[in-house]
Amino acid sequence: MPSPAQKHPPLPPAILFDLDDTLISAHTHPRETWKHAIETLPERPEHMDPDVTSTAIHKAAKWFWSDPVRHKTGRLDILTARRGIIGRAFEEVGAFEDHVLEALGAHFTEIRREQTALYPDAVATLEALRDRDIRLGLITNGNKAEQRAKIERFDLAKHFDHIQIEGEMGFGKPEEEAYAHALKSLGHDVSDTWIIGDNLDWEVIVPQRLGFYSIWRDPVGTGLPDGTTAKPDRILTRLAELTET
Ligand SMILES: [Mg+2]
Repeated sequence: MPSPAQKHPPLPPAILFDLDDTLISAHTHPRETWKHAIETLPERPEHMDPDVTSTAIHKAAKWFWSDPVRHKTGRLDILTARRGIIGRAFEEVGAFEDHVLEALGAHFTEIRREQTALYPDAVATLEALRDRDIRLGLITNGNKAEQRAKIERFDLAKHFDHIQIEGEMGFGKPEEEAYAHALKSLGHDVSDTWIIGDNLDWEVIVPQRLGFYSIWRDPVGTGLPDGTTAKPDRILTRLAELTET
C-alpha cells in the first residue's frame, strides 16, 4: 500500500537560497573531475598517474577544506587554495615541476567552469516562487568576482530581492551577521523565512539554532553523511519539489 505523501508546511513569505550546489552544480564529483583534468592535461608528465595523483589531490583537498579558518581563506582566493592543495598532493606522490602544478590548476579551473550549470528546475522554481509573491534572497560564500560572474552567467539576479556575497560583505555563513543581514534586507523575521542549501553547517545546523526552517539540498541524492548531527527540517533532491506541494 503506498504510504501517504509526506506533509510539509506551507511555503513561507521569504526564502534564502544558497548558490553553489543548490541552484547551480559547482563542485560535484571532485575526485572524478581531478582525474579527468589529469588525463586531459596537455603535456602531462609520463610518470603522472591519473588514479594515484587524483586520489592524492582529493585527500589533500579534504584535509584543506576540513578546517573552517582555512576554508574561509581558501574560498575567498580559490586559485591560491587550489595551488596549495595540488602542491601538498605532489609532495605525497613525488614532486612535479612548478609549471605542471600551475598548468593542472588552470586546467582544472577551466573544466570546473565548463561543468558548472544551472540545475534544470532552478529557474522554473524561482519563477514559481516569485509568482506566489515570496521574497527571495541569494546568500553565497566565496570570492566577489567569481560569485558575481556565476550570477551574471546564469542571469540569476533578476529572480532575487537581495543578493549577498561573502566577498562583498566581509562576512559570510556561518557567521550570524550573515543571516541577520539577509533577513533585514528581505524585511522578514527568522520565524517566517526558510533557508535552503547543501552545506550542513551553513544552511542547516547554524540556521536551525537561529530559528530558521532549514532545508538541506541533496542534488545528487546521496543522503545525509554517516555520523552527522544535522537534522534538516526537510531534504530536497529536486528544487521543483518545493512548489509541487
Ligand atoms: Mg553550496
